[in-house]
Amino acid sequence: MAKKIIKRALLLIFGIFLLLLLILFAPGIWHHWITYPRYDREVEELQELRKEVVPITNLKTYRGVLHVHSYLSHDSRGTLDDIIPAAKKDGIDFIFLTDHPHGDIDTLPKGYRGIHEGVLIEPGSEKQGFDCWPLQPAIIDWKINKDTIAKNIVSKGGIIFYAHTEEPHNWANPDYQGMEIYNFHTDTKDQSPVPILFNILVNGHKYRHWALREFFNEQTTILSRWDSLNKIRKIVGFSAVDSHENQNLRARYLDDGRILWVGNNNHVLDTMEVKFWNNWLFDKPDKSGWVFKYLVDTYETGFNYITNYVLADSLTTKSLAENIKKGHLFTSFKTLGDAKGFQYYGLNRNDSVCAIMGDSAKLDQIKTLQAASPLPGQFRLIHNGQTVHISPEGKYKFIWSDPLERGAYRIEIHLKMQGKLIPWLYSNPIYIY
Ligand SMILES: [Zn+2]
Repeated sequence: MAKKIIKRALLLIFGIFLLLLLILFAPGIWHHWITYPRYDREVEELQELRKEVVPITNLKTYRGVLHVHSYLSHDSRGTLDDIIPAAKKDGIDFIFLTDHPHGDIDTLPKGYRGIHEGVLIEPGSEKQGFDCWPLQPAIIDWKINKDTIAKNIVSKGGIIFYAHTEEPHNWANPDYQGMEIYNFHTDTKDQSPVPILFNILVNGHKYRHWALREFFNEQTTILSRWDSLNKIRKIVGFSAVDSHENQNLRARYLDDGRILWVGNNNHVLDTMEVKFWNNWLFDKPDKSGWVFKYLVDTYETGFNYITNYVLADSLTTKSLAENIKKGHLFTSFKTLGDAKGFQYYGLNRNDSVCAIMGDSAKLDQIKTLQAASPLPGQFRLIHNGQTVHISPEGKYKFIWSDPLERGAYRIEIHLKMQGKLIPWLYSNPIYIY
């Protein structure tokens, strides 16, 4: 009798365990066979509708990422062998690194800089809530007052942007020039990661781009803060993938022949003797020495997830930095479609261009606002945080000829995908005074 009860209890536990596994993995399996192939098809179909936009200025458009970590940060192991191939695959022209300094004194330039296989790299730091690029040799003492640090960097021609804008900042500080309007790391904080992690176990390889998109939520609080700040003065908006390539499991051989296992955030998990099964588990060492890699947040997926597009004269730090500070920048979720070619500008009464995104124009001199997109979408015009116009879906061009008022006018484009309208592109505003 007792044996029977134990048998039944074990069967019940086993049944519950199987049911639990099914509940946890079923959404991922559904996505793998149904949802994500459909999403890929939608992206391909949208690409077929691509129309090149005739440029309205001599500026070229460069794709870049502005918040990236390398091995110089305590929580990343990324080297150029990881970063550059990812950038080239994604069509990224420039990377402004933001490595966490070790200790309170930070010396720049540090680590990587210059052109590497056609990709421009500029070193910078992330500390005290800043994305900071001095753009010239500098020693930063991170112990001193934050506002003083910002003043010192900006007064010498550098860039101070606010990182992680979900956290408190001195918004009234007069020196910082811009803020993150989207940060992938920020976006991962606002929901339980557990269902997404089970989905990643199923889809983290073939459909990593969609599995990570499951974290996406429109950052409405951050966007409305950006709008309210722009009523007072120009604050450049940009996106950050905050790429570390550090959510993973990796192994490499140590000099003494043992194996080092590294887990999330570059934490060393263990060192161990080589076991018989290593022969089939491990590959030949890659360029960085890894013999085993299970990667989740790769640079390649991150750089494509959301991308900054800067309108500049040339692929040089000087030209890019000048134009980034001017707000000649828009940002877009490149996984959904490449936004290169997008234009947003104001015309005067002679139909000449008198402002592009980031610029200011006098109320009595600007007549219309216009925008053009390489992919068809729904244009939204936002004035001082209020949506003043929503265009029909599937449009390539937007013209606003109603009377203009003072304030900041920015454009969003939303795409009809996945059965709904989803934000795809954010421009910097044109400021009318
Ligand atoms: Zn970061």
